[in-house]
Amino acid sequence: MTSPHDPYVRVRGAREHNLRNADVDIPRDTLTVFTGVSGSGKSSLAFGTIYAEAQRRYFESVAPYARRLIHQVGAPAVGEVTGLPPAVSLEQRRSAPGARSSVGTVTTLSNSLRMLFSRAGDYPEGAERLDSDAFSPNTAAGACPRCHGLGRVHRTSEELLVPDPGLSIREGAIAAWPGAWQGKNLRDVLDALGHDVDRPWRELDPADREWILFTDEQPVVTVHPVREAGRIQRPYQGTYMSARRYVMHTFADSKSATLRAKAERFLSSEPCPVCGGSRLRPEAMAVTFAGRTIAELAGLALTELAGVLAAAGGDGTARVLTADLLARIGTVNELGLGYLSLDRTAPTLSSGELQRLRLATQLRAGLFGVVYVLDEPSAGLHPADTEALLAVLGRLKEAGNTVFVVEHQMDVVRRADWLVDVGPLAGEHGGRVLHSGPPAGLAGVADSATRRFLFPDAPPAPREVRAPSGWLRLFGVERHNVRGVDAAFPLGVFTAVTGVSGSGKSTLVGQVLAGALVDRRGAAEDQERPVIGYARAEGLEAVDRLVQVDQRPIGRTPRSNLATYTGLFDVVRKLFAATPLARERGYRAGRFSFNVTGGRCETCQGEGFVSVELLFLPSTYAPCPDCHGARYNPETLEVTLRGLDIAQVLDLTVESAAGFFAETPAAARSLGTLLDVGLGYLRLGQPATELSGGEAQRIKLAAELQRARRGHTLYLLDEPTTGLHPADVEVLMRQLHGLVEAGSTVVVVEHDMAVVAGADWVIDLGPGGGDRGGRVVAEGPPVAVAEAPESRTAGYLRAALG
Ligand code: ADP
Ligand code: ADP
Ligand code: ZN
Ligand code: ZN
Repeated sequence: MTSPHDPYVRVRGAREHNLRNADVDIPRDTLTVFTGVSGSGKSSLAFGTIYAEAQRRYFESVAPYARRLIHQVGAPAVGEVTGLPPAVSLEQRRSAPGARSSVGTVTTLSNSLRMLFSRAGDYPEGAERLDSDAFSPNTAAGACPRCHGLGRVHRTSEELLVPDPGLSIREGAIAAWPGAWQGKNLRDVLDALGHDVDRPWRELDPADREWILFTDEQPVVTVHPVREAGRIQRPYQGTYMSARRYVMHTFADSKSATLRAKAERFLSSEPCPVCGGSRLRPEAMAVTFAGRTIAELAGLALTELAGVLAAAGGDGTARVLTADLLARIGTVNELGLGYLSLDRTAPTLSSGELQRLRLATQLRAGLFGVVYVLDEPSAGLHPADTEALLAVLGRLKEAGNTVFVVEHQMDVVRRADWLVDVGPLAGEHGGRVLHSGPPAGLAGVADSATRRFLFPDAPPAPREVRAPSGWLRLFGVERHNVRGVDAAFPLGVFTAVTGVSGSGKSTLVGQVLAGALVDRRGAAEDQERPVIGYARAEGLEAVDRLVQVDQRPIGRTPRSNLATYTGLFDVVRKLFAATPLARERGYRAGRFSFNVTGGRCETCQGEGFVSVELLFLPSTYAPCPDCHGARYNPETLEVTLRGLDIAQVLDLTVESAAGFFAETPAAARSLGTLLDVGLGYLRLGQPATELSGGEAQRIKLAAELQRARRGHTLYLLDEPTTGLHPADVEVLMRQLHGLVEAGSTVVVVEHDMAVVAGADWVIDLGPGGGDRGGRVVAEGPPVAVAEAPESRTAGYLRAALG
């Protein structure tokens, strides 16, 4: 029995996922870290059990109708949890914000800035005061009427619509037209209107070409289709639509993402001529504060914005509002994010940046008596910024809250009040609580994979650095805060690019270097047009192939998973189609796909989940009432392969699947590479939306490793250690160094000093973020950069070198 004054959160019999009837007691009002290798069960305990249980109770308390919902969502598999306060999760994996959200909306700083403009802005003579909504491009009251608040307008041109004017209309000159019947219809309508559809496009009269492509008229004519494929077709009334009209209409209104993307290829976009890209209507743009428009202020780095607001002074209302803004910007700045601007859109932020923005926002919310659950808040943070993070977490605790974080960075772990270590390994080899107590106590836990990293016995043995086989040089790099920099990347070795958040690492490596390599080879059709951003390059020809392994999700819907991404699913479906029962019933491979009608469960359309819309609460997913998450209909599930149906195969972990498919070379190879990158604990059908950025990156890497290698490849990785326990980092580094041994070049952007210390070459950017960064502060082998006087990385690197 626990008394109400029992200061512990007590968990009894946790069985969620791989947890093995785990019991754990954690004191409230502490900073507690959860550690363990990937897949050990840390998140299942912190999020899947503790947070989920708090959430369940919250639902129950706010609305009786929620009982029905909880019934559907399911309570976590746990015997009992006592002493649990309400919980707030700052994890962002499952709740990525939309394209219209920005730093300003996530932090709600935009609301305050609008209030300032509404109440205390300088209005033109005679203008009426505007409501604060009128300063938001996301409301009807504020959006620019020309571009509807998008800031850009789309245009098309003859060159885009007709890429090959040597073709006739019948031969497909108008590339933008739809295919199949609709395209043929438009051609026949033009024919009926008296245009020559068999002459090369360039020989047609310019006035006719103009009309065909751009007219807004929609004439209706009687079309007498020519006989095709022996079928007699009856005359019908056909309506003409110009190519521009078709493209614009499809781009704006089509429900199909594929059609929209195709239409976009025939459009060029440019800043809106009315609002100049500010997205706001002219009345709002006429109002200023401290001599600037709201769009100008939203475009400043937060540190600069704070400077402008602090200097503005002003009377009563203005002072109260600016003081509030300054305090809140201060917290964001403290978390190392002062280089961001309010108008920076959420999709361009990393998950670490987003989580820290939410953290800063929470700090001002003034809640107490709450458990905050965070997922690796140090992701994307330079060690120099980790101190500030710890200070902010400390403030949340001082305010009377409990802070639970899943973490891999030992500097954070050492500073925690309490440590819960889960393991010893992943999946079925984990799921036990090995230690729950002050961090020092872990020293005596022999089983723990974390122990040797928290208490290292000896510095790593010094390693001979490799000599480069050549150099790739970029001169005059100009982009974002990187201004007129020359950069040199050694080939055939492992390079780490370091620097505080916002110093320009992703700009230099992810955009300019990657863009230089893509540009030289001609962008593939599905790639975005490369960023150029440099004056001159040398040595690009030595690289045959660029492989960028980033942390973007492998898919945005629960329909993608690692089996679909790696191609393993194709192999598996063919195996199922080849079973005697499938052949007898005429089931082909497609029958075993949950993405198409036939084999899938139609209630959930193969998702396994149905979305439950809630009044006042974020909508949530509940298991499908018909297939209970299996995704398939019962007939399909009757087909088994050595005792398992297709849903059961998708439920296997990579590790068990490797055993199950050991005799199928095509499957065994991709499963082997997934094991090599430490993903043995993932289930084949785990939806892409449940994978972390780090897991997505390792899946991409595995898919890449299984490909045949030819020529000189340059691999670019952005913080590959995110989400990885130091023991997993060792496994990954062996893989990456293996690529270098095989003659490739590896360039990683990285904060983990163990990785940087093990590199052959280091490029340190900085010294600060935003305008205070963007220069190459130091470059050379790790031992040399560790001594560089101006570098904020040097001290941490020195410590890691031992
Ligand atoms: P960690 O946080 O330590 O990386 P997790 O708690 O995410 O580990 O995962 C622990 C185990 O539970 C792994 O074997 C993982 O594959 C499994 N698992 C995770 N999520 C689910 C899920 N939604 N359904 C079933 N198993 C899961
Ligand atoms: P790092 O990778 O070192 O954290 P970044 O290259 O992301 O740094 O950012 C360097 C600078 O460029 C920062 O001031 C940042 O705000 C700016 N920046 C980065 N991406 C964009 C973008 N898409 N639009 C505008 N500014 C950007
Ligand atoms: Zn506009
Ligand atoms: Zn279903």
